[in-house]
This record gives sequence, structure tokens and C-alpha cells, in this order.
Amino acid sequence: MASDEFLPIKGMSDIISPEVSLWQLVESRAREVFHAYGLTEIRTPILEREELFIHSLGNTTDVVQKEMFTLDYQGKMRLTLRPEGTAGVIRSLAGAGPDGRQARVYYLGPMFRAERPQAGRRRQFHQIGAELTGEANPLADAECLAMQAHLLKAWGLSQCRIKINTRGLPEDRAVVADGLRTVLKPHLDGLCEDCRRRYEQNVLRVLDCKNPACGKIVEGLPSMTSFMSEASRSYFEEVQYALRLLNLEGEVTPRLVRGLDYYAHTVWEISHPGLGAQDALSGGGRYQIMMNGKPVDGVGFALGMERVLAALNAEGVHAEDLVLRPKAWLVSLGEAALKENLLLAMTLRRLGVACGMDLTARSMKAQMRAAGKSGAAYVLIRGDAEMEKGVFQVKDMVASKQEEQALPEIMSLLLPDITPPPAGG
Ligand code: AMP
Repeated sequence: MASDEFLPIKGMSDIISPEVSLWQLVESRAREVFHAYGLTEIRTPILEREELFIHSLGNTTDVVQKEMFTLDYQGKMRLTLRPEGTAGVIRSLAGAGPDGRQARVYYLGPMFRAERPQAGRRRQFHQIGAELTGEANPLADAECLAMQAHLLKAWGLSQCRIKINTRGLPEDRAVVADGLRTVLKPHLDGLCEDCRRRYEQNVLRVLDCKNPACGKIVEGLPSMTSFMSEASRSYFEEVQYALRLLNLEGEVTPRLVRGLDYYAHTVWEISHPGLGAQDALSGGGRYQIMMNGKPVDGVGFALGMERVLAALNAEGVHAEDLVLRPKAWLVSLGEAALKENLLLAMTLRRLGVACGMDLTARSMKAQMRAAGKSGAAYVLIRGDAEMEKGVFQVKDMVASKQEEQALPEIMSLLLPDITPPPAGG
């Protein structure tokens, strides 16, 4: 790389037009849907103490063990670029006292994971997420999943697949882990190296290992729910009942466990067939996180925005079609017209009409080329002769027609909501 050439770090990128139009659409629709469900936005810092993530996500999770960007700050603190949103949100809500333990919030923004970049896996990616905190209640789990399904529909995604499962009550964690270890023990030699480590540290993750040999062993095991208490099982049945009530189809998938330790009860994953190998669009579920000595219960989800965009592309929605075009483009033939046009452009913009122009009186051909490239609906051309008569040559770029018009007519063209006063009135 030449010394004066700077590129973003691999797995991170600039988001520019036209692509940014799709981001804006996805974000604004998400805000509308969240508003309908009574959620407010929360913005937490991007940098947090490493300890927050170790504590919330769990010491043995892949994210904490392998994927965090952590920096040592002057030997005083270890700071981590947030790898996910829930830990920071719960830190903030718990700090707000009892109100925070009963809250409905959403967030959007960048997350960072030190992974090897590949298709669908980035080091900086973006998530849209929601958290509903409050006592564990099957209806809240169903409402949260229904909100997410609503969001996917509002974006125009129709091919998503929802898989659900349960990890049971937080109190069942140890019993379930012990039960799984017992039934896995005779198969230890057949497991992959990662799973032999997981067997000791995070045995649930053996269930969703992608290695075919592990998958085969897991297929023959009793399901996780068989180790759970009656309370855990009936909670999950109530969630499924509520989902049916809300007309939502979640495919029960006994191997689904999700990667982070804080999950309890319902977990889900949403995939999209247009995404290729990394087909997870989103993960979610109920969790319990200890914060300031007390548990915070909640249910939430996080959607990967890059993958939402890729799924939209796969379903035929493209950024190029969404770019906002100026309504007018001013073409100036000569210095006098250039100055007058600059003043007119400012006036139009204050009235809410998006317009553009060249800031030099270049050749007519060059200015018309710029006008075409901008995608403006109308081009207003004037030179000395038009200035003298107080008119413009107005070109309708869609109809490809040009005619001479005075300013009042042009204003009603550009501001159709403003009706000019009747002549002579
Ligand atoms: P997770 O917190 O790992 O369940 O991630 C939730 C969602 O974020 C996933 O379903 C993906 O859509 C997205 N996601 C997670 N990690 C990455 C990554 N490295 N690059 C792009 N998207 C990601």
C-alpha cells in the first residue's frame, strides 16, 4: 500500500450513497414499528469496560473468548468496543433503578467483533435491537417475537424462517448441563476438538455445532427439554400457545441454543434463504443478567442490518431505486445568471424544494450532463436573454419537453401544494 493511501480496516466499510438510502429506509421503518409498540430509543456508549461483557455474556462464550476488540487504556482500564447491544442497555437500565427493570427500549448502531472477515461476517457490523425488561412472562416473549415479525414485514421481507426453542428456567441451567454431560459422556471421543472443550465449559453449545460428526451424535440424544422442570416446559408451551394466537409460525428446533450465557427460557433465530452460508438474520430470546447484585429479566432480539439489506436485495429491493433526487437543477449561462441562480437556489431550498446547480458557469453541455446525472425532475435554464425577459427555459426531464415559463408558473410546478392566487384577484 502506498504511504498516502488509506483504506478502512478489512471487515469495516464506509456506507455511502446509493447504499445509504436503503439503510435510511430500514432505520426509519424500524423506528415507526418500535413506536407503535411503545418503545423508546436508547443510545449507549460504543466503548465499555471489558468486565461488563465478560460478566454479562459469559466467560466461556465464543464472543468473549475470541471476538472482542479490547484495548488497554494507559494501563488503567481494559476497554472493549461493544460486540453486542444488550449488555450496555441492561447496564444503563439497571442504573436507572426500578423503572429500568421494567422498560421497553430499542437501539441501533455499530457493533464490533474481531472475526476473520468473510461473506456475511464483518468486524464492524450494525444491529437493530429491542429489549423489553420486566418479570418473565410468556406473553412478553410472544409479543417480542411478534414485534420482530412485524418489523420484517414492514421492511418487505416475506421469506424469513423463524426457529424457536427453550433453554428453560435460569434455575434449571445446572441440571440441564449435567444431564447433557451424562448423555454425551459415552460419545466424547467422537466429538470435534471444540466440542470436547465445550463439554467442560459450555456444554449447550455442543448441540448447535456445525460439524457433521457432532450433529450425528446430538441427533441421537434426548432433547434438552427432557432434563427441564415442569415449570420450564409449561412456560414454553404457553409461549407457543401465544404465538399461535398471534398467527405466528415458529418451528420448534431442539438443537437451537444461541451463543450467549445470559439466555434463559425462549430463544429464537430468524434466517433468510437469500443470505448464503451465513443465513442468520437475527437472534433473540429471554435472558436474565445480574446487574448491581440483582437480576434483570428481559426479552429481546438483535437483527444484523447488513444481512437485512442483503435479504432485501435478494427479495428485489435495491438502494438505487430509493435515492432521493433533487426536484430542480438550475443551469446558468453566464456570470449574471449564475449569481441570480444561486440566490434562487437558496430560496427554493428554504421552501423545501431540493435543488442543485453548478457553481461555475460551465458550458451548457457540461451543466446539462450534471443535471441528468443528478436525476432532477426539472431543469431551469437561464442566460442573459431569459434574465432580461424574467423567464426560464424549463425542461421536464421525464417528459423530455422544454418550454419557456415565468417564475410564478415554475413555483407552482415545484410546489404543487401552493396554488397561485387567481389572476386579477
Ligand atoms: P448475535 O448477537 O451473534 O446473535 O448476532 C445477531 C445478528 O447480528 C446475527 O443474526 C447477524 O445477523 C448479525 N451479526 C452477528 N455477527 C455478525 C458479523 N460478524 N457480521 C455481520 N453480521 C453479524
